[in-house]
Amino acid sequence: MVARARYDTVIVGAGSAGAILAARLTEDRGRAVCVIEAGPDHPDLETMPDELRTASMIDERHAPYLWHHTARATALRPALAAPSGRVVGGSSAINTTVFLWALRPDLDGWARVAGPSWSYEACVPYFRRIESDLDFPNGAHGTTGPVPVERPARAAWSKAAAAYHELCLSLGYPDCPDFNAPDAVGIGPVPFNKRDGVRMSTAVAYLAPARARPNLRILARSCARRVVCEGTRAVAVEVATEMGPLVVGAGEIVLSAGAIASPQLLMLSGIGPSEDVVRVGIEPIADLRGVGRNLRNHPLCATAWSLAPTYGEPELLGIPWQTQLRTTAPGSRDREDACLGMAVLGSRPVATAARVTATSGPKLGISTLLMHAASRGTVRLASDDPDVQPDIDLSYLAETTDLDRMRAMVRLAVELGRHSRLDGLRGELLDPTPADLASDAALDEWMLRNVLTSHHPAGTCRMGSDDDSVVDDQGRVHGFEGLRVVDASIMPDCPRVNVNATTMMVAEKVADAMRGIAPATSAARASA
Ligand SMILES: Cc1cc2nc3c(=O)[nH]c(=O)nc-3n(C[C@H](O)[C@H](O)[C@H](O)COP(=O)(O)OP(=O)(O)OC[C@H]3O[C@@H](n4cnc5c(N)ncnc54)[C@H](O)[C@@H]3O)c2cc1C
Repeated sequence: MVARARYDTVIVGAGSAGAILAARLTEDRGRAVCVIEAGPDHPDLETMPDELRTASMIDERHAPYLWHHTARATALRPALAAPSGRVVGGSSAINTTVFLWALRPDLDGWARVAGPSWSYEACVPYFRRIESDLDFPNGAHGTTGPVPVERPARAAWSKAAAAYHELCLSLGYPDCPDFNAPDAVGIGPVPFNKRDGVRMSTAVAYLAPARARPNLRILARSCARRVVCEGTRAVAVEVATEMGPLVVGAGEIVLSAGAIASPQLLMLSGIGPSEDVVRVGIEPIADLRGVGRNLRNHPLCATAWSLAPTYGEPELLGIPWQTQLRTTAPGSRDREDACLGMAVLGSRPVATAARVTATSGPKLGISTLLMHAASRGTVRLASDDPDVQPDIDLSYLAETTDLDRMRAMVRLAVELGRHSRLDGLRGELLDPTPADLASDAALDEWMLRNVLTSHHPAGTCRMGSDDDSVVDDQGRVHGFEGLRVVDASIMPDCPRVNVNATTMMVAEKVADAMRGIAPATSAARASA
């Protein structure tokens, strides 16, 4: 027998966006909200497993809290591990906690596609609302938001991070003490959403204080399988729970399952490009051709050196990326499209989910992230079975401009790494090898074989009003009533930063719209 339940609002996914929506929407005590989350729930910091509580990069301990997807990155890298969080808090519960506001050109670009409510100036009050900036408690930053933000103190920088900072300054890159200041570029410390080593996920910062509300139900270890529609009205979600199947009816259904699962759920429900839906035997109910298209992300190439014997004891930090360079890729016609960070990488096995790679002792790495790629990928159904992951094609470096810019960035990373200011810290170049660097063709092949993901998928149900868009400027699915998507998938484009803070900003903004609250303004926030 199928059990039934009914709420005013059902949110699928308790991740970066879903947990914020649940917390904000239940501030209206008359609204009954149910959050359906596939992963487990660890409700308080005291009982939370250390690997979720303590901020770190992902490793093998996080495997129970992940979706273990693989993606085609390039023709030479057809099965790259592309994990994401599967736990209350979503990817914010397992991520590296880098907390960066989107840049002005990113959001002003969104505004051209999705309307003026998404301009940089319109979004800034929402970034402020999220944060409590512990380093810059002044007018430019939020000081009362639920998410503490801090940068590693200079005294705590590794020798590598400090030397990298000095090196970049000596080469004329601007000093950048605050990457979240408007129009910030240059070399500086990375802001993190953590405090006293604790990862401030949306589960901790937003959901924990809301849990006691009688109008909030969190249904963990429960997987949404499809949305049920009556004509063009979404009326319920079919869910597989530990107790058996459940149909949850709702006045409004919000998909916040992330940039892979939200388009997957729409397509499983018959909403998407008809040819993709029909191909796996699902009857289409709306031919929305943009669903699963426009997969945006940041390709990453990792250069590595041995540590010099004179380095001393390597600082093996949970989060080794302390200083980074935000700049424009050499020869690029874009701007602020390059991020190069230096770190001492440890000997702990690094989980890339599907593969756990044992690293062979500490190394010094400079990673190059292409922050505004031209290539776009796709998410397509592989099966009508919700338990089968969709085909994910990242299409990394598919456009010549991406290959050119990444090659220029890798050569810049090698030049920085070889600089005499790092003598005594850095040993020999391990990767790429001299043979890989011998020609552009050889380096391109190295990049296409070794490119990694930054774990920032976005854009697969993008906002807009054109035929390729999926939702309007408030996340409402075109042509449907009672159905929204609110997560990283509705971004028209990937911002030139790690995308978690921007996803949170999206959720805060749409929550206001759903509650009928006028958009926050800088002036209103400053006086609040
Ligand atoms: C390893 C890693 C490191 C990262 N590091 C950083 C970083 O340092 N800084 C940064 O800015 N960004 C980082 N990111 C990216 C960032 O965390 C994500 O972009 C962001 O969390 C996306 O938010 P979301 O709400 O769209 O999706 P998520 O937070 O992933 O939430 C989606 C939720 O939906 C649930 N779900 C999915 N399908 C279903 C279903 N069918 N039924 C029920 N529930 C479902 C999932 O289990 C998950 O909890 C990282 C990501 C990863 C994976």
